[in-house]
Amino acid sequence: MYAYGNLIGGRWVAGEAEGFETVNPARPASTIGRYSAASARQIGRMVDAAAQAQRAWRAVPSVERGAVFARFVSAIEARAEDLARSITLEQGKPLAEARAEVMKSCAEARFMAGEAARGHSLVMPSARPGMHNMVLRRPRGVIAALTPWNFPILTPMRKISPAIAFGNAIILKPSEYTPATACLIAEAARGVLPEGLLQVANGGAETGAALVGSAGISGVTFTGSVATGRRIYARAAEHLAEVSLELGGKNAAVIHDAKDLDACLDQITTAACMCAGQRCTAISRVVVRRPLLAAVTEGLVERAGRAVLGDGLEPGTTMGPLTNARQLARVSAMVEAGAREGAMVLTGGRSADVPGLEGGYFYAPTVLGGVAPSMSVAREEIFGPVISVLAYDDLDEAFAILNGVEYGLTSALFSEDNSVVQRFVDESENGMLHVNHGTIPDNHMPFGGVKSSGVGAYSVGASAANFYTTEHSVYIRHA
Ligand code: NAD
Repeated sequence: MYAYGNLIGGRWVAGEAEGFETVNPARPASTIGRYSAASARQIGRMVDAAAQAQRAWRAVPSVERGAVFARFVSAIEARAEDLARSITLEQGKPLAEARAEVMKSCAEARFMAGEAARGHSLVMPSARPGMHNMVLRRPRGVIAALTPWNFPILTPMRKISPAIAFGNAIILKPSEYTPATACLIAEAARGVLPEGLLQVANGGAETGAALVGSAGISGVTFTGSVATGRRIYARAAEHLAEVSLELGGKNAAVIHDAKDLDACLDQITTAACMCAGQRCTAISRVVVRRPLLAAVTEGLVERAGRAVLGDGLEPGTTMGPLTNARQLARVSAMVEAGAREGAMVLTGGRSADVPGLEGGYFYAPTVLGGVAPSMSVAREEIFGPVISVLAYDDLDEAFAILNGVEYGLTSALFSEDNSVVQRFVDESENGMLHVNHGTIPDNHMPFGGVKSSGVGAYSVGASAANFYTTEHSVYIRHA
């Protein structure tokens, strides 16, 4: 059983707000953690401690900061197995996926440790004689990070790594469904990072809102739903804090022609079903040229049937449960709405009974056929293992479907035709574009979305500097 309050300064302190518990989504009767939430007063103390720690940290040369931060990454790696188990216990994904999440977080963090030393300042030519111009980047200050429950280490580390490496302090408010991993991350930081540089505030929306609204916060980085993103954007605007919002997606794979259709469908199925479909970058629409429709639909249904649902800690499990009862109800209702609107449920379409795990939040991998672009299952984020298949006759129609949603996170095209590839690269209205593979991103490439999928700087790789530092134009005249 995990039991945590809040890491304020360098000490764990019981929260003054109402406490809460987490459960194992595969066995909801089993309590996994007890947490006490931070009050607004405690958030105020954390912001003060962060500001104090950041004043000292920003004075540490960036190369040295990178070296200290790299020791923190080593401390995370040393606890990889404990971290992976905490993810599976509260979030539900299979242990192998949880281990991969920990390792990807560390790989992205190692890039950031190096990025601290590389810096992003520029020497510029001057318009006047005897002058040198520079564009300097400096740490932004105290960062508030709010994270969802689907990637309990990857998303927090995507925010902690650039924040610390670029000289900031950070206060993390993890999801109230998966706080254990965040608390273990904070444990790993103790004795490695200076006190107050990384603090953890537990709680739900109220704690998050208090954090975002604190005047001492210079930047708010949020990953989560569009509705919450809007609220956070508005609240941060009250004190003009910079924001980086990473929101939802309704990601499509367009299959125009595929040299190896089996490999294509394998990648799409993985991208749709990993984390039980609860990934912002999950493929949830397959847009297929009509002559390939029958083969694609049949292949997806067959692959959906191969999933082994179960407790993520059990060897052999390939898909865990959804993370909470609300999510199970939401996915079920959305698929039912799709069926009412005329979609055909080709497989799945219901919660799944797993022997011995009755009451677990399992949902059967689902393929919906005959989906029209106007249907809700073609437009709204489902965040479950559900693929909507839409057919097209010509490329204009394919691009109209691909871009005809409010989201713009990631996209994939399968085609050997160079002109189709070029058009996709020019016209796909998404932050990330993949050709002839699924939607798994690299550890050093910008990650983010356009339209309703994101606001502000992308995270991961060099782009993070745009949010985690401020820019200063410097003019030096030789005396
Ligand atoms: P959510 O928006 O409900 O919550 C996210 C975080 O915000 C949680 O920590 C929550 O406690 C906090 N929060 C909720 N209301 C708040 C408020 N009023 N003020 C301050 N904080 C508040 O999202 P979720 O249900 O945890 O996650 C699922 C969503 O996240 C999906 O829509 C998914 O697409 C999105 N997501 C996006 C990305 C991305 O990178 N684009 C990655 C993962 C998840």
